[in-house]
Amino acid sequence: MTPFAIRLTFHGDLSFFLRSKASTIERQLSERTSIKDVIEACGVPHTEVDLILLNGEPVDFAAVLTQDVGVDVYPPNETHFPFFPEDRLQVHIIEKFVADGHLGKLVRDLRLLGIDVAYDPAADDRQLVRTASDQERSLLTRDRRLLMHAAVRHGYYPRSQDPLEQTVEVLRRFRLASVLTPFSRCLRCNAPLEPAEKAKVLGQLEPLTKIYYDQFRRCRGCGQVYWSGSHFEKLQKRIEIIRSRFAGKTAG
Ligand SMILES: [Zn+2]
Repeated sequence: MTPFAIRLTFHGDLSFFLRSKASTIERQLSERTSIKDVIEACGVPHTEVDLILLNGEPVDFAAVLTQDVGVDVYPPNETHFPFFPEDRLQVHIIEKFVADGHLGKLVRDLRLLGIDVAYDPAADDRQLVRTASDQERSLLTRDRRLLMHAAVRHGYYPRSQDPLEQTVEVLRRFRLASVLTPFSRCLRCNAPLEPAEKAKVLGQLEPLTKIYYDQFRRCRGCGQVYWSGSHFEKLQKRIEIIRSRFAGKTAG
């Protein structure tokens, strides 16, 4: 096969994933290659790609390259790239996640906001991929190899290393702002919380808690009891910070 040249331009924040500073990359190919493979060879996982244009025409990941062509690659951000709404490759609203073992703080923040996040710090790559595909969860990880796995349909690579910023990123990417239900989910095990009568949780309470608090919630999964103690105020503050950063980001 005659060698041919692919000229790829990565738009928006996809340049984050590229090794070079330039957002346009030239590749020489000498055999039929899928567009997914060419894009991922540049370092960009397919889960981050929402629109691909081949010489200006939308295609999906299975498109095969056989000759000289220009490729434009876009992230999920219709505010900046409002064209071809019918040809998007990602699901934009997802409310269920699985996170890898390095993202414990992000998991805690998301659960605090009521978002369903499966998390097992001991899970290996295969288990993460399986949980994501079996349970239709979006995979959150800073391991881009994992996001390139063909069985991973939905995922996100948090750009920031800061858990609070990561939380804001996830809320924005998956449009979660309107579905937040803070204090409705167990921070330890992810199961929903339900109201619990004081008499039924007395055995799990410290003496002072017994005196000062009357309203309790209990986890349906692990039985952990929650009440509005001093830790509650800290969590409330954290929620406010996340919300205000989110609002700031959205406005800008
Ligand atoms: Zn629990």
